[in-house]
Amino acid sequence: MRLTGLAVFLIGLIGCSDGGKPPVVRIVDQFDPKLVDGSPSSKAPEPQALWNFSESEQDNVPLLGWKIGSGVTGLRVVNGRLTGRTTTDTPIIYAMRPETVDQSDLFHSLEIKAQTSEAVEMRAHLENSAEPDFARLITASASFNWLMEGRLEGDWMQSVVLTEGRVHSLAEVQAILLRPASDAGVTFEIESIRLVSQREHRTSIPSGLGWQGLGEVFRETIVSRSPESFSVDVEIPTAAWLDLHLGTLEESAVTFQIDDVTDSREDRIFERIITMPQRWEWATVDLSAFAGVRKLRFSLSVEGDRHIGFWGSPVIRRRDRQTTHQKPSDNTLGDTTTPQGVILIMTDTLRRDHLAAYGYDRETAPTLSYMAREGALFLDNISQAAWTKVAVPSIMTSLYPHSHGVKRIPDRLSSAAVTIAEVYRDAGYATAAFCSNAFTGRFTNLHQGFEEVHEAGSLTTETNSSKTSRAIVNRAITWLEQRPNEPYFLFMHLYDPHSDFEPRAPYNTMWSTASGKETHENHRKLALAEAEKKGEKRPFDELPFPEDFRRANLDSKSWMRYEKGWYDGSIRGMDTEVGRLLERLRTLKLERETLIGVVSDHGEELHEHGKMGHGHALYGEIVNVPLLLYRPGSIPSGVRVTETTRSIDLMPTLLGASGLSIPQSVQGQNLLPLVVAYRDREGEGAKIRATSLGWKSHPAVSEEHSRDRCCGHADESYAVVFDGWKLIHNVTTKDKPEFELFNHRSDPLDKTNVADQHPGLVEALTAQLTAWRKMVAAAKLPEEVPTEGMTSEEINRLRSLGYIQ
Ligand SMILES: [Zn+2]
Repeated sequence: MRLTGLAVFLIGLIGCSDGGKPPVVRIVDQFDPKLVDGSPSSKAPEPQALWNFSESEQDNVPLLGWKIGSGVTGLRVVNGRLTGRTTTDTPIIYAMRPETVDQSDLFHSLEIKAQTSEAVEMRAHLENSAEPDFARLITASASFNWLMEGRLEGDWMQSVVLTEGRVHSLAEVQAILLRPASDAGVTFEIESIRLVSQREHRTSIPSGLGWQGLGEVFRETIVSRSPESFSVDVEIPTAAWLDLHLGTLEESAVTFQIDDVTDSREDRIFERIITMPQRWEWATVDLSAFAGVRKLRFSLSVEGDRHIGFWGSPVIRRRDRQTTHQKPSDNTLGDTTTPQGVILIMTDTLRRDHLAAYGYDRETAPTLSYMAREGALFLDNISQAAWTKVAVPSIMTSLYPHSHGVKRIPDRLSSAAVTIAEVYRDAGYATAAFCSNAFTGRFTNLHQGFEEVHEAGSLTTETNSSKTSRAIVNRAITWLEQRPNEPYFLFMHLYDPHSDFEPRAPYNTMWSTASGKETHENHRKLALAEAEKKGEKRPFDELPFPEDFRRANLDSKSWMRYEKGWYDGSIRGMDTEVGRLLERLRTLKLERETLIGVVSDHGEELHEHGKMGHGHALYGEIVNVPLLLYRPGSIPSGVRVTETTRSIDLMPTLLGASGLSIPQSVQGQNLLPLVVAYRDREGEGAKIRATSLGWKSHPAVSEEHSRDRCCGHADESYAVVFDGWKLIHNVTTKDKPEFELFNHRSDPLDKTNVADQHPGLVEALTAQLTAWRKMVAAAKLPEEVPTEGMTSEEINRLRSLGYIQ
């Protein structure tokens, strides 16, 4: 932990955090497996679907239902292994789901034991169709259809567990497709394939600590099985209460009990019967009569052994949280206390030039405009990546993608990363994440530091699944109402501006006419058909490019005008929910106690450079994203920062404003000196003042790495914005020049490449990129090394809880 001059200055300016120990006691941190009593003997679950080729003693026996889908030759069983050789780069073998599988259960994972003649990424896909369309799967081969992926190092028998970040009922899984390699000429030998259901997986859940999910809401959990119990020694503060969630996997009634067993006492202090499985139930226990050092025993009462009970995120909190609102001598920021809570609102796919606060001529977001007026708006903030999977880890760790290492769909954040949630958790804050897609949750290992994570699968989706704000704001409000006195850090991933863009009423007809919808959708279909004729895929199978309209003899401009009306309406629908959140904060008397940071992970191309979507380029419409800070009475109103900032600056800024030490690992910087400087001055004067307060002018870099071969995505590009210029270095892209230079101030959407006119600038910015690359390479996090006998998922969960290194 570093406490720089800047941090000292800012604590002096903005306030002091509560001194001493954090006012919470987390039972998961106190849990000791040695204090577990009466554990039932373990019993391995019966597999629901297991294809075990090693049991075949003869060669050329039936293939247990596995067949060639495409691109494989010589599929047969040899020496107890299903073997074959790939003949294309999209080889597929498949099997139907066995009839015996319990269709009321959910899919959990595929466990595959195999070896290949060379290192491969083995992929799998679940198909909800009795007759998979292999031609279509091959066209879309490298993209989202193969969400499950695991690496085999080649030439020795290894186990790989493939999981998907989505919930499937087994009834939906009609066929299991396996893609053993991505090249022709690879020989594979598969010893076994096992389809693991959620129920099977849970039967195998070890008692003790872990991350457990019910209804796709995950918590730091202590798992117990009847008749076992566990005890913890805790120091209970005065005016304390226990905040916990309870859940079971059983249909039978499970009674959760807590006893005070200090000095051989046996006083029951809590009892709760749960009969509804697969969901969390909130419970509180008043501990005000139990202050002092205590031994608490947690047990389950249930008829029968081995019934499972989850004690979800049990935390002893204080009702009389002491906010030592110190008044520093320099009182320039008004109410100079640290905020009680921090909310990081991430608005997916929101480009800043579609906000009135940034000059857009439609009022798409009156709440954000209000927050910008009453807070600090950063006029030139740059995202470090062009799509969610890569951009969000940068926001959460203040590291560039090159350093945090999450670049492709299956990548997980290293447990060595220090996330913003971990810093808040360690400081005693209650932490929760509300996610809108798999990329921002456990699938990316971004649950590190959260006591609870609401995965996208937990949302009751509205008619259009990208409109998640209403459901997420509901969750956040309930969460806040349950703990109005706690220090808190909430991460809210709002998804409404993401495609498909059509919002629900009334936002669907705010800027697009109801009568125009049929023609609009018809033109979309005709344009997409043109792309398909060329054998090309378009993002999300629904975002056609201008060339597709040209080929269909349709006007792409009028089509895009209509589509933008929907995009803008989606922003407006999301903004209404942010307004509702503000209103609830006000009612709970938390508005002035809460620092809100709003940022987007990336924007969206709407035909500016011949394409649509995001994740394929580093032009302004994709990486110029909004950033604002709001806390009435503390963040000065009307501040408009013109200096270039980076999304990685948000984490140190929020931590700095909370009076917490900023981890040494961060690559961003605290922006509060800019806020203070721009409150009183403008332009060069503000820059000089900010510099004197410790802020430094840094190049803002964005990275693009090959995601897949779909949709004309760039292979590898870097963009750097510095001193009013932007250079894009296309390292491996073939259809673009190696260097593109833009006047960032007058041409923020990067329309006119002026590299030829300014060779000196190209050279200077290339040098910046080279220096930057050295910096981020030196700070690269170690990759995960799987531990013997554990699945990588288990290891990640344990690591992120800090139980293993
Ligand atoms: Zn995104």
